[in-house]
Amino acid sequence: MHEHDVIVVGAGGAGLRAAIAADEEGADVALVTKLHPVRSHTGAAEGGINAALREGDDWELHAYDTMKGSDYLGDAPAIDTFAQDAPEEVVQIEHWGMPFSREDDGRVSQRPFGGMSFPRTTYAGAETGHHLLHTMYEQVVKRGIEVYDEWYVTNLAVTDHDDPEERHCHGAVAYEIATGNVEGFWARDGVILATGGLGQAFDHTTNAVANTGDGCAMAYRAGVPMEDMEMIQFHPTTLPSTGVLISEGVRGEGGILYNDEEERFMFEHGYANNDGELASRDVVSRAELTEVNAGRGIEDEYVDLDMRHLGEERILDRLENILHLAEDFEGVDGLDEPMPVKPGQHYAMGGIETDENGETCISGLYAAGETACVSLHGANRLGGNALPELLVFGARAGHHAAGKDMKTAEIQTGRSAKSEDGDVEPPVEPGAIEAGSSDGDVAADGGERSSSDRRSDAAMVEPKETLEHTVRQERERIESLLEADGINHAEVRSNVQETMTENVNVFRKEESLNDALRDLRRARERYEDVAVADPSRTYNTDLIHTIETRNILDVAEAITLGALAREEFRGAHWRAEFQERRDEEWIKHTMLAWDDGTPELYYKPVLLESQWKEYEPKERSY
Ligand SMILES: Cc1cc2nc3c(=O)[nH]c(=O)nc-3n(C[C@H](O)[C@H](O)[C@H](O)COP(=O)(O)OP(=O)(O)OC[C@H]3O[C@@H](n4cnc5c(N)ncnc54)[C@H](O)[C@@H]3O)c2cc1C
Repeated sequence: MHEHDVIVVGAGGAGLRAAIAADEEGADVALVTKLHPVRSHTGAAEGGINAALREGDDWELHAYDTMKGSDYLGDAPAIDTFAQDAPEEVVQIEHWGMPFSREDDGRVSQRPFGGMSFPRTTYAGAETGHHLLHTMYEQVVKRGIEVYDEWYVTNLAVTDHDDPEERHCHGAVAYEIATGNVEGFWARDGVILATGGLGQAFDHTTNAVANTGDGCAMAYRAGVPMEDMEMIQFHPTTLPSTGVLISEGVRGEGGILYNDEEERFMFEHGYANNDGELASRDVVSRAELTEVNAGRGIEDEYVDLDMRHLGEERILDRLENILHLAEDFEGVDGLDEPMPVKPGQHYAMGGIETDENGETCISGLYAAGETACVSLHGANRLGGNALPELLVFGARAGHHAAGKDMKTAEIQTGRSAKSEDGDVEPPVEPGAIEAGSSDGDVAADGGERSSSDRRSDAAMVEPKETLEHTVRQERERIESLLEADGINHAEVRSNVQETMTENVNVFRKEESLNDALRDLRRARERYEDVAVADPSRTYNTDLIHTIETRNILDVAEAITLGALAREEFRGAHWRAEFQERRDEEWIKHTMLAWDDGTPELYYKPVLLESQWKEYEPKERSY
């Protein structure tokens, strides 16, 4: 068994920043990660990091833009904390050596980004995330923070109590990819989940294959509610054949979108008469698909993004990486021709419910970064707001887990007197097993014990035994997956991805959401029969992908149930049957709690007031 004060699961931007913060508090901290830190998906971030750094800008403007961008589903205490802490965090990474692009006078460059009222996006060429990861990894090495890389965390060690808020997280269990060993990681003070996005629940995504929602699914099954899972961002400029992202930086520098009739449709068809291409992402994605559906798409599929007029010198200076992506993945030379683009899944606004200090309702368990929902982005994230989120809330979670006395959070987690019960009626097919039903083993996979088995074990209340028990359970699960005969997980995974892209996309309607739930249920049934054909104990990626597929299933179902429950149009969530934002009823967060394998829906109020400010919901136009 490995033992540390703080265990950080995941070593992308959020995990690295959390680990550095815990180290700053004097904690013995370790990073446990399935990928080497610099291979984490943060490295793919292109466009930049928002912070109010310049004269003429201030945190309140940044906060206002973020709240407006969230379509009034973000929580004011999170947004205000974020906008106030972001400048200091950005200056900090600059001092650690982040090679930001600069103006001739030496100041760090800032460019406009969608939905921002001030050009406040700092960047390092079009490789901002790559440099950010390397800058923070250098700090991790310098500080001697222990990194267990290529260790795949399969479960959390959480004590057994009926009420999730009485549970405690004592550590995690991980599978060493190089050897096949399964070992426990005892956390004296806290576990921080920083496992990133869940884009692999969709088949057209900008996310890497490693973004399988592991942290969300593990926390969900341990009893932490998932918040606003239906809020998925579809980025308007992804390459049609692969989903590879073309950064918003291209539009920030002046790139223009055209339809098949060579119209600059953002203006000519009135989608965003002020901001045009730089309207918020949900607005631009819907505009593109509306053009395609109206027969004005190119090859009935995509639109063109043109940056030729920016000139070779500026493109090479600020967007060189984009030229390589367009050439390598689409065979297009962005200096000579427009680039084809269409919307693709990009980001999860929802996730593990936390407060401003990164704490969940299970004591000792924290979350930060894309896997968490603090809720900063609400119904729509503004471009350039995820990287500062990693820094701000990664740091806060790290400090808090390591024992720093933080101010009491304004955001409450877990069920409270203010929670309101919800109801969502997924379709039931004769003979089909209910989504997440606790009778039968739908919630389980080959070898995994169901949550009711977990609850029957009295030893689970003892901290060390909790971890030892979870280690035994995970060893059994893995052995069973390796020994059983059955189907390959890939088939199940592609069924999930296809139905999510087909039915839970930019435009959503009740019938399609129900179709998706039916497909997911069938996929769950099939998943009970999965097995790993490769018996190898070293670098068995088939085994890891099989376990990840279970996580993909759980998060896909949560997204779809949330989408079916939310009967309005807000931010990225568009419903055919409900074409308006319905503030009177729906300024509330969708919460899904998983207890004994049954997703249970409830709501909690959105906080439009913080200790600093109060926000009045307004119509969101750009
Ligand atoms: C192509 C692209 C471009 C983007 N550009 C921008 C941008 O310009 N500006 C901006 O603000 N945002 C941008 N974003 C969003 C932003 O980059 C991400 O939200 C953010 O980097 C996520 O960071 P993270 O630390 O939460 O997760 P990641 O960087 O994905 O790290 C997750 C970590 O968790 C580990 N992990 C996962 N599961 C397990 C497990 N089971 N066991 C052990 N380890 C595990 C992985 O190994 C990895 O180290 C972009 C996103 C994409 C996809």
